[in-house]
Amino acid sequence: MKCLKTILLDTVFPPRCAVCGEILRMEERQGVLCADCRSDIPYLPQEKCPHCGGKTNNGGFCDFCMKHFPFDSVCGAFPYEKVRKAIHLFKYDGDKTIGEGLGRLMAEELLENHKELLEKADVLVSVPLHPKKEKFRGFNQTHILCEKIAEKTGLTFQRHGLERKRETIAQSELDPEERKVNLKDAFAATADFTGKCVLLVDDIFTTGTTCRECAKELYRAGAREVMVFVLSVAGAE
Ligand SMILES: [Zn+2]
Ligand SMILES: [Zn+2]
Repeated sequence: MKCLKTILLDTVFPPRCAVCGEILRMEERQGVLCADCRSDIPYLPQEKCPHCGGKTNNGGFCDFCMKHFPFDSVCGAFPYEKVRKAIHLFKYDGDKTIGEGLGRLMAEELLENHKELLEKADVLVSVPLHPKKEKFRGFNQTHILCEKIAEKTGLTFQRHGLERKRETIAQSELDPEERKVNLKDAFAATADFTGKCVLLVDDIFTTGTTCRECAKELYRAGAREVMVFVLSVAGAE
């Protein structure tokens, strides 16, 4: 049941599509995108590697690409370019409703196309922000995605599984080599993951440096497997 405050707010400021700004119809409001934009923003194809475009059969990165990463698998929900605007509104303008909608869409993608990840995963862990940055932003965007994924799929979200030990420069401002140096030893696992299969969640996968560093720590803390699931993959068509 919606509370009165929400109903009033929805009347005065009706929720709008995160991409085109149109007022959402009642039946569209769970997903934050209008029906037109929703049909225009496809989930990543299942038969193509989102990193190199090569052949794959499970929507994840192909074997060739996986040789470069220490984790066990990577899947994403959307091509980055298609959800860029929504991510921006969520992360930088602080529109949490959009983040919640994107989290629900990620959950739907897991339920529809990546059941094997859901069956295997023991726990959901998100990429941490430095406490200072989280305070400045008011929230950690990947926490919001994970909360919605957990809610819809029943997976357990281990909110404090990883922490950021030091402040780092935004990865988007750096080239691939600088990204590696920037994040070296920036994360630490704060829980015991012995024997666990972890589903690591991030918002954007570009060079994979962030997930790589987080995965290393999870393995160090005993994880048996680290599978990555991201909202968007940059460079994918
Ligand atoms: Zn729209
Ligand atoms: Zn590939």
